[in-house]
Amino acid sequence: MRLHNEHFTVIAGPCAVETYETTLRCAEGVLKAGATLFRAGAYKPRTNPKSFQGLGEKGLEILAAVRKETGLKVVTEVMEPGAVEKVAAYVDVLQIGTRNMSNFPLLREVGRTRHPVILKRGMMSTLSEYLQAAEYILQEGNDNVILCERGIRTFETYTRNTLDLSAVPALKEQTQLPVLVDPSHGTGRRSLVHSMSLAALAAGADGLLIEVHPDPDNSWTSDGKQSLDLEGFERLMADLERLAPHFGRSLPPRLAEAQAKVRQPS
Ligand code: PEP
Ligand code: MN
Repeated sequence: MRLHNEHFTVIAGPCAVETYETTLRCAEGVLKAGATLFRAGAYKPRTNPKSFQGLGEKGLEILAAVRKETGLKVVTEVMEPGAVEKVAAYVDVLQIGTRNMSNFPLLREVGRTRHPVILKRGMMSTLSEYLQAAEYILQEGNDNVILCERGIRTFETYTRNTLDLSAVPALKEQTQLPVLVDPSHGTGRRSLVHSMSLAALAAGADGLLIEVHPDPDNSWTSDGKQSLDLEGFERLMADLERLAPHFGRSLPPRLAEAQAKVRQPS
């Protein structure tokens, strides 16, 4: 799987895998709204060791079941070199989180797979450090690396991070790798996600990685605060569909519609 140059790729789903039912409901909702890939974490890097750490292998099994049920390809985070083989067996795309951007043994290990790797920008990394981290993966022979700007730490406290949208054109001046934007972790606030998503399209991003939860206020992680609900995500997709052609992009054909056509040939 590779990101398509002319398409604006939207990857959506909850922060963490919760129950099979919630995960499936979310995947069906984002699929219907036009998402290309589904995201959800089975292994969660949490600041507090007492916080919910993800369902682990059980979460991977739920992801595989949801993938089978919906046909949506799945993205999940891998946190340790020793877990790469197992995680890669369950999902289509590996994610390296912000806290692991400089975990060089982990970067080397995902570089030895042939899975696409979404490498998130370290929250305190310069673009030069970021591109050198990507080089660790490329050097092992895996050229399917996808960058993702997810906000950096600044003195601002109203937002969780400061979403550095200038990183998008700045990275594109220096590399051919695709660049996504994560407006959810980038702002930490649901109310800011829609506008920052449209701004990411205008800045030249290749797509979005966005948190969506069918019932964000009852999410199992604190990231419910930054998650769109399914209605909010549908509204965002409608705006993106309308605006993308103005920026030389289109949204990929809807998988849900394509699948419906296959099921009921006319
Ligand atoms: C996530 O995508 O849920 C996540 C933990 O992101 P980040 O590594 O950017 O904080
Ligand atoms: Mn999250």
